[in-house]
Amino acid sequence: MPGKFKTEAVVLRSIRYGEADRILHLLSASRGRIGAIAKGVRKPRSRFGGRLEPFFRLDLVLYEGRGDLSTVTAAHTVAAHPHLRGDGAALGAAARACDAVLRLCDAEEPNPAAYNLLCRYLSILDGSESLDGAGCADGATGLATALAFRLKLALAAGFAPELASCARCGEADELVGFSGAAGGVVCAACERGGFAFTPEAHEFMVEALGRPLAGAPQANDRALRQTERAITETLEHHAHVQLRAAA
Ligand SMILES: [Zn+2]
Repeated sequence: MPGKFKTEAVVLRSIRYGEADRILHLLSASRGRIGAIAKGVRKPRSRFGGRLEPFFRLDLVLYEGRGDLSTVTAAHTVAAHPHLRGDGAALGAAARACDAVLRLCDAEEPNPAAYNLLCRYLSILDGSESLDGAGCADGATGLATALAFRLKLALAAGFAPELASCARCGEADELVGFSGAAGGVVCAACERGGFAFTPEAHEFMVEALGRPLAGAPQANDRALRQTERAITETLEHHAHVQLRAAA
């Protein structure tokens, strides 16, 4: 039904279109993914200002017509994330997060877990929500948080890896490998086709899923790399999406 609707949303991607317009890919709180057009936004006196850019969290009024794209009629800033924009590492992490959401969350139905997770991560990258302030996009802490985000996003999208027992046979002990095709950890007898997976990586994934994003656990580089591979291969096999490298 054509008509006006309001929703909060995060801008995932913003593409120039024609003389002065922009096409927006949005993750909204109340409708999941939305495609929208903002007209005249690139004119100097646009009422939208510069807020229809990636990583902005907005209160939007949209008009839904008969086409695929809704039209933005009003936009108010909920969070601009100004610190994130001035920090190369945070900017890169935010871009990879939005890219993962674009690939993994394509349904036009609300996914509050995915929406809240993205808002929380952008806020952490902006430094407005973290344990120790700035710098959480850098180095090992940044990678651990980025991987915790991916893992929670996979869970929110319905593709969380099996971590409690062998994904092939159900065995609970000697979980020494990980198989993207099986979608989780595998035991010694089922390891063929998987890759070696350390107890540190296993513990990291379990802990990361259990804790709030701002308190993501730490792990050594090898465990983090194995975690990234486990998430990437699970999503390739089961969601048919390929994510960019996490860092
Ligand atoms: Zn097994």
